[in-house]
Amino acid sequence: MKKDAPLLPADVDPCDDPGHGHRTLRLDEARDRILEAVRPIEARETVPLRASLDRVLAGAVRSTVDVPSHDNSAMDGYALSGAELPAEGERGFCVLGTSWAGRPFAGTVGAGECVRIMTGATLPAGADTVVMQEHVRRDGDVAFVTPGHRPGQHRRRAGEDIRAGDVAVPAGTLLRPAHLGMIASVGVGEVEVFRRPRVAIFSTGDELRSIGEPLGEGQIYDSNRYSMYGMAARLGLEVIDLGVVRDTREDTQRAFEEAATRADAIVTSGGVSVGEADYVVETLERAGTVGFWKVAIKPGKPIAFGRVGNALFFGLPGNPVSSMVTFYQLVQPALQKLAGQASPDVPVLVKATCQSKLKKKAGRLEFQRGLLAREADGSYTVRGASHQGAGVLRSMSEANCFIVLPLDQETVQPGTVVDVQPFAGLV
Ligand code: AMP
Ligand code: MG
Repeated sequence: MKKDAPLLPADVDPCDDPGHGHRTLRLDEARDRILEAVRPIEARETVPLRASLDRVLAGAVRSTVDVPSHDNSAMDGYALSGAELPAEGERGFCVLGTSWAGRPFAGTVGAGECVRIMTGATLPAGADTVVMQEHVRRDGDVAFVTPGHRPGQHRRRAGEDIRAGDVAVPAGTLLRPAHLGMIASVGVGEVEVFRRPRVAIFSTGDELRSIGEPLGEGQIYDSNRYSMYGMAARLGLEVIDLGVVRDTREDTQRAFEEAATRADAIVTSGGVSVGEADYVVETLERAGTVGFWKVAIKPGKPIAFGRVGNALFFGLPGNPVSSMVTFYQLVQPALQKLAGQASPDVPVLVKATCQSKLKKKAGRLEFQRGLLAREADGSYTVRGASHQGAGVLRSMSEANCFIVLPLDQETVQPGTVVDVQPFAGLV
């Protein structure tokens, strides 16, 4: 496999004493360096509008029409000329007919005249104002209007949403339900999206067994491959599962080569700690450009980042919670950029009053697992999950948020306001 030009910033030499001389980076530093190194996918494909949900738009969608196409009513009521509104006293307007949504009134509204109008119906010629039906006294063919209305009220202008030629949705947008509606509103039925990135995942470790295999002494089931599948699939990526890779030179070499030829990104778990997994380090050195970084977060041991062949490479720690935390905080934004998203999603943070004591030492940014609740008075409270060990996956599966504790924070006493990153919206 040929070596690519280094894709890491010049001051980070990834091959400098790999696995040992860990540099310690802050999370934001590590994230910036990773994002800098990611080149978005350029391949595109055209898909029908519905199939574009959760894909990234490659070509801006421009409108061919004005939306709405005509001035129309925002209310059910009576359309008339604003100049005719009474300044004082009630005034009667002769009702000429009705303008329905999709079936406009053909005539013109003159002085002392009005037209019954429905929401979304075109304003007839001569009318620029709508009086809500609740504000009108109707007596036979006459509608009585009192003072207090404003000329031009309840009128939606043609092109108010978007004008012909305008960009309806810019390239690089992750298409959500509102975008599908927006694109449909300008009459476009097919869109150009970026090809979905292919992400290869595998777990390393001699102790790992796959579901269905009996467990021998000291062996555990491989859970990371499943949580990683879930995290990558949620991002709308194509996941290639390469299974468990044993700690042998041959298996490791084969797995990296296969992953690099089939995928745009490789995410592995396990085997990135100091003095461990010699084959991983050795293979990475041969196959690509990879650095080992210590990131000042907890949980999360050193992570490896770089390139193998043409694929981005992320080597995450093996502890099940560490691998999830590092995936969300470092890999997810990178994969969103790889997928063509113009800006990665901004994680939501809410303030909540912590109800439990949270043990912490200064020095690392911590992502403790917590349970966020909304109290009857509308305030948010949170308490820490009972077991905060990096290997205790139940702390993740029972939690609904990360409690984000800053680098220099020490033990949190009950009653303290903390930052919380809810899982909903993050995943
Ligand atoms: P490592 O990062 O390889 O040193 O692994 C750290 C811890 O995570 C060890 O206790 C491993 O047994 C465990 N671990 C590693 N990979 C996995 C996995 N795929 N599923 C579950 N646990 C794992
Ligand atoms: Mg291991």
